[in-house]
Amino acid sequence: MKITNVSAMILRYQYENAIADAQNYFSVRNAVIVTVETDAGISGIGEAACFGGPAESTKFIVEKELGPIVIGEDPTNIERLWKKMFDRTRQHGRGGIIFSAMSGIDVALWDILGKHANCPVYKLLGGYSDRLLPYASSGFYTKGKEKEQMAAEVESYFKQGFKYAKIKVGRNPGVFLSPLENMQANDECTYTLEEDYERVKACTDVADRYGARIMVDANNTYNTYTAIKMGKAFQDLGVFWLEEPLHLDNIEGSIELAQALDMPVAGYESETGLFNFREYINRHAVDIVQPDTIWSGGITECVKIANYAYAHNMPCMPHVFSSAVSLMANAHFLASISNQGILEMDRNVYPLRDELLKEPLTLAEDGYVYLPQKPGLGIELDEKTVEKYRVG
Ligand SMILES: [Mg+2]
Repeated sequence: MKITNVSAMILRYQYENAIADAQNYFSVRNAVIVTVETDAGISGIGEAACFGGPAESTKFIVEKELGPIVIGEDPTNIERLWKKMFDRTRQHGRGGIIFSAMSGIDVALWDILGKHANCPVYKLLGGYSDRLLPYASSGFYTKGKEKEQMAAEVESYFKQGFKYAKIKVGRNPGVFLSPLENMQANDECTYTLEEDYERVKACTDVADRYGARIMVDANNTYNTYTAIKMGKAFQDLGVFWLEEPLHLDNIEGSIELAQALDMPVAGYESETGLFNFREYINRHAVDIVQPDTIWSGGITECVKIANYAYAHNMPCMPHVFSSAVSLMANAHFLASISNQGILEMDRNVYPLRDELLKEPLTLAEDGYVYLPQKPGLGIELDEKTVEKYRVG
């Protein structure tokens, strides 16, 4: 079997009411869906992350730079092809957009291997569990969502059967060193640290009534002393973890924070590659390790990161914030590892998650998500949804 073509398409969803995290203001969300074709009639689907930049740039890297490196090769030699892409792009890669694009191809290669072997990807990887406990990931900032609406939102997730919900913090102007001052629409939906605390407290009060837990995500905007101060306050409210509190370049601060808190520090989805995660794990700058199969270097690299975390007694659970393809790829990865945590399920309105697949992942009545038993990732794109949201 040989690879004959590598292509990427961009799907775009426009929000009526923009959503925001501590840094980013999303009026649109893009998904770059990668297809790898072979001469055996089997094709694989993957996704390449495009957070923080134009989706068109990621599409270009997939098709023009990485595609030619793997075309003509045997798609079942995934480790070999990963290393070939890594080596050929070394001088301007080793992370960033190259790793996102490599991830998209890598995920598609695993889909091909699964179809070729007639086996679901998570079982090919070793298979640890057939179901996953998910958490509701939402609580974004948006106009009109005050602490009362936040509390009502998380309550709706607990009523649906979720045992955990994650919400956003950190959209705080005036925190020294926060990147927010240089971001788009940085004066929208902003709060003080004290207001953020009250929003979190409104949610932990609800969670306590349901025997559930709240996690908070600061998306890299705190400085070290603010993270320690807010972390201690959130910890006292019973928050389950504090995610991406600090800037990626402040690894020393993350070590100091992890030592100062009993509550786990989770991260860092914005980091890529085993060699960078190695530093966070070696130095105990995190307690919970959060790579993403469409961003950190594919399923191949995420399994290595998870195993490295396992060797350091750390749970691993992927970041998930894109289309249904990303959700499925990350679910297969998570279901394959023994140091698995819980599965992030974005609950923002997003048809590219809910309507892109003929059979999407959904919450079962028992509060779990069950992995599909079809070969590969077990996905088939809904062409009507593709038509509706495809760009160009
Ligand atoms: Mg996050």
